[in-house]
Amino acid sequence: MRRPFIAANWKMNKTTGEAIEFVRELEARLAEIDTSLIDIVIAPPFTALQALKENIKSNISVSAQNVFWEDKGAYTGEISPPMLKDVGCKYVIIGHSERRQYFGETDEGINKKLKRVLFHGLSPVFCVGETLEQREKGRTFDVVRDQIENGLDGLGEGAMYNVVIAYEPVWAIGTGKTATPQQAEEVHGAIRALLRETYGKELSGKARIIYGGSVTPSNIGDLIRCSNIDGALIGGASLKVDSFFDIIKETARYIKEEV
Ligand code: PEP
Repeated sequence: MRRPFIAANWKMNKTTGEAIEFVRELEARLAEIDTSLIDIVIAPPFTALQALKENIKSNISVSAQNVFWEDKGAYTGEISPPMLKDVGCKYVIIGHSERRQYFGETDEGINKKLKRVLFHGLSPVFCVGETLEQREKGRTFDVVRDQIENGLDGLGEGAMYNVVIAYEPVWAIGTGKTATPQQAEEVHGAIRALLRETYGKELSGKARIIYGGSVTPSNIGDLIRCSNIDGALIGGASLKVDSFFDIIKETARYIKEEV
């Protein structure tokens, strides 16, 4: 079993005060269960990163939701990998479909971001996924393969051990429509096969591929039990302590069965 990875993507939600309050409540609840075998990650807005990191008293890690590919310079409004390291980030989400859709992010830019954050020792959570139209046209695997091949272009096997891949079908994000465990597992299996072809058996066996798209406490159990699904990237259900905690608790229950 690969170490489950459960990440909250808060998107443009929560002030610093709300973020601190959330983590206080969450940590109080987490004390009830054994989370030592789970990576728990929270990606707040940039403005709350430092305060959140300073207020965390448990093994929760902090992630950014985006980054730029240069270290410094005349790039108004951008944040660099060294700046994220400076405030204690361990992870950074790259290539989320909302960034591709609303901010015109391309595979080429995503590739530059991946390379730069890995150079600085941050771990990317690299998002890929097809739209509904692409799925209906039977293009899911081609789209995901292109995103992965272009996004990871030029990265060697060594760097890949630090990459988490998030499969997030665009039609399932924030819509309440989850991919069925079978649909998700099929794509996760194809991604793992692609990693095996490109980087070999060892990397593909260790790489974590997480699912995102309307994950809730009631569907995480079936998703996490699929052999190629190693965790979840959670938007809506990560904004409330109760639902985020319940997702972690379900994951902990699954681990207990396995070990
Ligand atoms: C996401 O933002 O990555 C996501 C999966 O959102 P939601 O859980 O709300 O679908």
